[in-house]
Amino acid sequence: MNLNIVGAGFSGCITALNQKNLFDNINIFDYKNNIGGILNEIEFNDSFFLNGCQYLDVNTDWFKTLLSTNLFNFHEFNHSYSSYTNLEGYVNSSNNVAGPIFDINNFDLKLFKKKNTINSSIKENFDQYPESIKKLLSKWFNNFKLNDKQIHFLSLQSIQLSRVFFNKNNNEIFNLKNNYKFLDDIIGVPRSFYTNKPLKAAIPFNGYNKFFKTLKNYLEDNHVKFYLRSNIKLLKGVDDYYFNNEKLKSNQLTLWAANPVPLISTLNLGKIQNPFIKVNLYHFNIISNVNSFDLFKYIQVYSLEDPILRIYIYELDNHPKIVVEAFQTADIGQINYSLNKILEHFNINIDYKFIFTSLQIRHIFYTIEDKKIFDKFSSNNSQIIPGAWDSYSRNDKIEKIGKNIEKIR
Ligand SMILES: Cc1cc2nc3c(=O)[nH]c(=O)nc-3n(C[C@H](O)[C@H](O)[C@H](O)COP(=O)(O)OP(=O)(O)OC[C@H]3O[C@@H](n4cnc5c(N)ncnc54)[C@H](O)[C@@H]3O)c2cc1C
Repeated sequence: MNLNIVGAGFSGCITALNQKNLFDNINIFDYKNNIGGILNEIEFNDSFFLNGCQYLDVNTDWFKTLLSTNLFNFHEFNHSYSSYTNLEGYVNSSNNVAGPIFDINNFDLKLFKKKNTINSSIKENFDQYPESIKKLLSKWFNNFKLNDKQIHFLSLQSIQLSRVFFNKNNNEIFNLKNNYKFLDDIIGVPRSFYTNKPLKAAIPFNGYNKFFKTLKNYLEDNHVKFYLRSNIKLLKGVDDYYFNNEKLKSNQLTLWAANPVPLISTLNLGKIQNPFIKVNLYHFNIISNVNSFDLFKYIQVYSLEDPILRIYIYELDNHPKIVVEAFQTADIGQINYSLNKILEHFNINIDYKFIFTSLQIRHIFYTIEDKKIFDKFSSNNSQIIPGAWDSYSRNDKIEKIGKNIEKIR
């Protein structure tokens, strides 16, 4: 059996790594001249900068496989995430949670209500919270200028908004979460309630571009073939699929680990609404010493005053840097002001210099209608394997793709 993989991003390449011993031949196609997709760094004046807050989970089989080759060099660290929430007119913050935090005196279960359907919208998800929280979440979400009645609530994971947190009463909330499933889905407690184990993560020591070059060489040595500058089109005839005009043979499976929009359209499965967002990335060099505790710190921001979404302090080739992800409407003056204020709030004392800004289109949201099309596609069990487009986290994507392949192989 042979496997074609369309898209040499993280999903496609790691799937090739996981499946290399299970297929006779694996071919990977990408329309770009290099592999790595959105993980590739951005080059500016001969320096490289991360394309957003991008780290890898070390507790996965594929990471262990990579380590066992002795070809890769990673920065491994205790992953720390923080929340800076300023939705109620004052700051609630934590170094143990990465969602929005609300003030609470008495936790009243009666103020929460369960939504009716599984395929519900972001608005219906927010409607489960007490009035004041619901209003603030909707107001903040409006920054994305998307219709919260159309977008599937599961895409809230991508902005760490599937659960909200409270600054008090966590013991009581933890017990209620165990008794009420719907509450468990929409409210979080700090991770320490479940485990004391530190969360480990990694980024390639010399960056993702070099990481993918090494991965490509390793996969090629293991009989995986790469076809770059290949824009793949898949068509469906009466009974057969055509892969760039060539009929797919019965011993060929195709994984579509790439943009699903043209695929769904040419297979006549409907039209994906594709509610993308634009995010500005602000790149800084750190020009002072950084406390090792602050390195690889990741701060999730929910604020009606600050245009920032996330802050990530990282290091590439021994150079410490910051990437700030922000709503597109922000300007560098506002970013500098908010960044300074937030770092100060967390007692992070570093000097930094703004280098440049870049724009990123993110396909992290999908509508309820898009999800129905994805589900229909997945239940089809054909020769075409969906790339887990509705999963956000890299691990979820890889796991789901693995299961989809196993089902058909
Ligand atoms: C509703 C929805 C809409 C989306 N729309 C888009 C979109 O418009 N554009 C987009 O880039 N992603 C889109 N995506 C993202 C898509 O999910 C990911 O590209 C895919 O799942 C692979 O994951 P990755 O992390 O490896 O992605 P990536 O790092 O983005 O890697 C994907 C790779 O595929 C390559 N590629 C894309 N199309 C082709 C093709 N036809 N032939 C050969 N190579 C190809 C790219 O060059 C890239 O290297 C969308 C996702 C959703 C849920």
